Amino acid sequence: MAVIKKENPVEKAKRERDGLDCLDNIIAYARQGFGSIEEDDLNVRLRWYGLYTQRPAEDGYFMLRVKVPSGILSSLQLRTIGELSVQYARGTGDITTRQGIQFHYIRIDEVPAIFTRLESVGLTTSGACGDITRNITGCPLTGIDRNEFINTEPVIERVHRYFLDNREFSNLPRKFKITISGCPVYCTGHEINDIGLVALNGDNGVVFDLWVGGGLGAKERFGERLGVHVTEGEIARVCHHICGIFRDHGNRQSRALARLKFLMADWGAEKFRNELENCLGYKLTPGAAPKVPVSANRAHIGIFAQKQAGLSYVGAATTGGLLSGEQMIATANIADEFGGGRVRLTPTQNLILLDLPSEHADAAASRLAAIGLHVHPSIFRTGTIACTGTQFCKLAQTETKARADELISYLETALPEFRSPLRISVTGCPNSCAHYQICDIGLVGDFLNTTDGKVEAFRVYLGGHLGEGYKFGRKLKRKIVATEIKHYVEEISRGFVNGRISEAESFQDYIARHTTEELEALAPCTRAAAI
Ligand code: SF4
Repeated sequence: MAVIKKENPVEKAKRERDGLDCLDNIIAYARQGFGSIEEDDLNVRLRWYGLYTQRPAEDGYFMLRVKVPSGILSSLQLRTIGELSVQYARGTGDITTRQGIQFHYIRIDEVPAIFTRLESVGLTTSGACGDITRNITGCPLTGIDRNEFINTEPVIERVHRYFLDNREFSNLPRKFKITISGCPVYCTGHEINDIGLVALNGDNGVVFDLWVGGGLGAKERFGERLGVHVTEGEIARVCHHICGIFRDHGNRQSRALARLKFLMADWGAEKFRNELENCLGYKLTPGAAPKVPVSANRAHIGIFAQKQAGLSYVGAATTGGLLSGEQMIATANIADEFGGGRVRLTPTQNLILLDLPSEHADAAASRLAAIGLHVHPSIFRTGTIACTGTQFCKLAQTETKARADELISYLETALPEFRSPLRISVTGCPNSCAHYQICDIGLVGDFLNTTDGKVEAFRVYLGGHLGEGYKFGRKLKRKIVATEIKHYVEEISRGFVNGRISEAESFQDYIARHTTEELEALAPCTRAAAI
């Protein structure tokens, strides 16, 4: 007799009602209160409109995520998000690693008014979370970068519009992430997206190299090149069919195995490409891999000339992505006062002001510094990213944002001469919203049993990076008590400065020439417990 498997509860909720069909319910819940929310809406469908219950759940507050395709914002849009944060979210705000903005303490009765305000300035939360195509990321310098192959803003807007509220793709097995990059630095992580499209010069103009099936989370996997190039005109059709293959062939029994990366692991690149070409009805054009630099400036922090003569852009670092409502409003005002009112969010949780007359860039940088956004920050402030952590995230094992702030301040004092680029991730759980596997030093939330009882701790990954020779960080056996990570990172950074072959050796190369056993011993960190 055949064994009938119990249906995955998320799949059941989605089958009974599509995630996009809960908008009317949201309006009704806003009138009737938090207690009226159906369980499947609360735990599943509200995510399709960017709403997640936040910790502690019983307080009835939500996190709300706003989509910002390619991180492109007008000052009006940023000011509006800032005003909403001040009015409804206790001034909270984070820039996410997908170039969106999320805020906290949202009450269900306030959601319709927030949606109306966002819509009035062309913003949406539809598809910001849930098993659907998420915010499409792209080069934050698109249209202004002197070396770019192509301005990707129009194609990203086209693909965003195509998938927005598209019920053909609103019930996918799991979330689905697309990035489209148009410059030779390739800072948007095509290697770790479900679809990565990266521009390069082909024989007959600019084309995009196609990568499929990347993703982080608890089981990281790099995407695979399908060995083909697609034109700008083909991109929407190719994304349509890859998303369709995922919808129809992805694993719907196990949420842990549902991402496209598992289908790719099962099929391999050749079978996937054949299936895609069958769907398209024609053969794709074979093409060579792009040259992706490992050491390029991917943070975009500082003052740089744009391709438009006489104009500069100013990139400013946040602290672990934190951007309060007041800072958003002030930033929008600075963007208007000094430039053309254009702002970009980066995948490293920082922001950029565009179109500043070059002679005014320093003055704008000073104004940003006065509101806590650093245009000339330390290596540590530039390179540290952090996820939400225990303050609001129900899955978190450790606090992250305040921990990142403390870590940055400590390292700035302890290692003032440190100059080598260094990316640090402070992530609250293995789900990897802060990309610990692809940072130089990845810290992942965990627990440790000590004589004082169970305490917050971090696991350590070393040497991960994207770009040429991309690799995931190596996982060490040890866990570090959370209060001691600043000492651990100091020791490992100091060991690098003293032990590198030359000043030109990167942290990644330094880590790569050590065995895992040597890495365990590199920073003994006597104050940290080891397992
Ligand atoms: Fe929450 Fe984990 Fe994501 Fe951090 S990585 S925001 S703790 S789910």
